[in-house]
Amino acid sequence: MSQRIVTLISEEEIQKRVKELGAQLTEAYRGKHLVLVGVLKGSFVFLADLARAIDLPCRIEFLGVRSYGEGTTSSGVVQITQDLSRPIEGEDIVLVEDIVDTGLTIAHLLDLFRTRHPSSIKVCALLHKPARTRIQVPVDYLGFTIEDKFVVGYGLDWAEKYRNLPSISVVEASES
Ligand code: 5GP
Repeated sequence: MSQRIVTLISEEEIQKRVKELGAQLTEAYRGKHLVLVGVLKGSFVFLADLARAIDLPCRIEFLGVRSYGEGTTSSGVVQITQDLSRPIEGEDIVLVEDIVDTGLTIAHLLDLFRTRHPSSIKVCALLHKPARTRIQVPVDYLGFTIEDKFVVGYGLDWAEKYRNLPSISVVEASES
């Protein structure tokens, strides 16, 4: 049985929405100390495009997190594999996530970051799957709401594959 990649959100739709989010963030963070924190690995493509759509000076940080193994269901356990390079006290943090699924990862990161006393902390996610929510988290800036399908591309993987697809896609089994 082979696999078929079916586009859910096209490259053009993503680029248009990311530019809108960038414009929104530009308005909201004028005059503030904006720090974009990309949650690795999945957010690296989104963060790269989003940062270039923001017309403000900002700092960029990455946070390494492991919440999934090779499978496709949440373990509920969030492990920090790489921390920020500098303190965030007094800064305006935007956590940049590829997808909010159960909400467990973002909930954990919000709790962790609040102990470091930033001036503000918001969440920007490209995708949200509300059907799988286990804990309600605020998604202050959201690209798209999607149904309960496992998606790949635009930074998102399936066992480390497909991160370089320019669209958000679904992997389907096919006979041929
Ligand atoms: P949560 O903690 O909200 O359940 O999961 C967040 C993380 O799970 C995401 O950052 C992502 O790494 C992974 N994840 C959740 N849903 C999907 C999906 O549909 N596709 C992929 N590739 N990863 C997902």
